[in-house]
Amino acid sequence: AQHFLDRITRHQDLGAFLATDPEVSLAQAAEADRRIAAGDTAPLLGVPIAHKDIFVTRDFPTTAGSRMLAGYRSPFDATVVTRLAEAGAVTLGKLNCDEFAMGSANENSAFGPVRNPWDTGRIPGGSSGGSAAAVAAGLAAAVTGTDTGGSIRQPASFCGITGIKPTYGRASRYGMVAFASSLDQAGPMARSAQDCAVLLSALCGPDPDRDSTSLDVPAEDFGRALGDSLEGLRIGVPREFFGEGLAVDVRAAIDAALAEYQRLGARLVDISLPRTELSIPVYYIIAPAEASSNLSRFDGVKFGHRAKEYTDLLDMYKKTRAEGFGDEVKRRIMIGTYVLSHGYYDAYYLQAQKIRRMIADDFRAAFTNCDLIAGPVAPTVAWKLGEHGNDPLADYLADIFTLPGSLAGLPGMSIPCGFGEGGMPVGLQLIGNYFGEAKLLNAAHRFQ
Ligand code: GLN
Repeated sequence: AQHFLDRITRHQDLGAFLATDPEVSLAQAAEADRRIAAGDTAPLLGVPIAHKDIFVTRDFPTTAGSRMLAGYRSPFDATVVTRLAEAGAVTLGKLNCDEFAMGSANENSAFGPVRNPWDTGRIPGGSSGGSAAAVAAGLAAAVTGTDTGGSIRQPASFCGITGIKPTYGRASRYGMVAFASSLDQAGPMARSAQDCAVLLSALCGPDPDRDSTSLDVPAEDFGRALGDSLEGLRIGVPREFFGEGLAVDVRAAIDAALAEYQRLGARLVDISLPRTELSIPVYYIIAPAEASSNLSRFDGVKFGHRAKEYTDLLDMYKKTRAEGFGDEVKRRIMIGTYVLSHGYYDAYYLQAQKIRRMIADDFRAAFTNCDLIAGPVAPTVAWKLGEHGNDPLADYLADIFTLPGSLAGLPGMSIPCGFGEGGMPVGLQLIGNYFGEAKLLNAAHRFQ
C-alpha cells in the first residue's frame, strides 16, 4: 500500500486520483496483515485497489466527478466496495471520472482531465479514465470501473490494460451513483484477464434487498476456465465493425489479433449485427432519458451542493443545478427531458426502446453461429486532449462498437492487442453471450 501511495504522490500530474487518505489505507493494510497472520485466505487479502469515484464510500469522499457532490461523504459503502473489502482488498482512494460517468475522454470531470500515461498529451478514454490511467501507470494493482455504454472497455483499450463489464445484473448497482440504470454495470480493470477474474468473482453476486435488477445468479469462480483450450471455439466477427470509420492502424492490430486466435485453435465466423449504427441514436436517447430522471435527486435539498443565495425554493433549485452541473450533464438532462415529454415520447423514447430490443435480437441470432464475438473497442486510438473540442458528437460517434453490447446487456471486455498511431495501445473487444464471463476471460487469458 505504501509503495502505491508513494507512486500516486509522484504521479499526481496524471490527475488519476481525486482522493487519497494514507492513514485509512495503511490501517486497512495493517488489518490485512493481521488477517494473513491469522491464516485468513480471502482472495484479495492485502491487494491495494482503488475505486472509480462513482462508487459511494464511507472512508473517502465521493464526487462522481461533479461539483454537485464536492465534499460529499456517503454514510454507507456501495455493495461492490463492501464485497471487495470483505475479500481483503485495501483501498488506496477514489479515481477521477467523467461527471456522472457521462463521457468518453474524461474531459467532462469537474476536477480536471486525466492524462494518458502512454502519452500525457492524450486522453485516457472515459468515463473510467482515472481507473484506466491508474492501472496503466502502476498506481494501483487493480481498480473498479463502471460501464454504461463502454466506460470500462474503451478506457481499458486506450490505456493498454484489461477490463471486463459483466452481464447486466451480475454486479449490484447499490451505491453506484446512477447514470442510466438499465445500462449501468460495475466491473474490474487490471493488468490481466487473470487479475480481472479474481476481482470479478469477488464483486459479483445477488443483492436482492438493495438492487432490484441484480440477478438471482450465485457468484461464481470466473477464473475456473482459465487455461481451457480454444480448439474449436467459434469467434464471430461482425462485418459492421470493420467499415469505413475504422482507422487503418486499429484495423491492422485487430486483424493480427484475430489471426493469433486462429493459431490458438479458434475458428472465425463472419456474422452480421445489422443495427450497429443505430446503437448510437438509440443509446443517446435512452441513456439521457434515464439520466434526466436519476439526476433529479440533485436538487440542493437532499445532499451535495446548494446555491448560497436564492429568493424562493424554485430559484434555489435552478441556481443549485445551474452551478452544480457541467455542460455535458446539462445537455443530457435537456435531451432526456425532451425525449420523455408528452408528444415526443412515442417518437423518440418508445422508438428507441423498440430498436434496443431488435439490437438484442441481432445478438441472439449471431450467437447461434458463434461462441463469442470479437472486434475493435473503438474506431481509433486515444485522441489528443482537447481534440474533440466542443463537439460532443465526435465523442458519441466513437462509442459505436461498445454501445450495441451495452444495449443488449451482454458481457464484454477489452484486452490489449497491439499498438497504433503514435505508439498508442489498441484494445480488442470480446463480447460474450449472457453469463459468458468465464468463457470470455479464458479467451482473453489464452491470448495474453
Ligand atoms: N461514452 C458513453 C457516454 O458518454 C458511455 C459512458 C459510460 O459507459 N459511462 O454515455
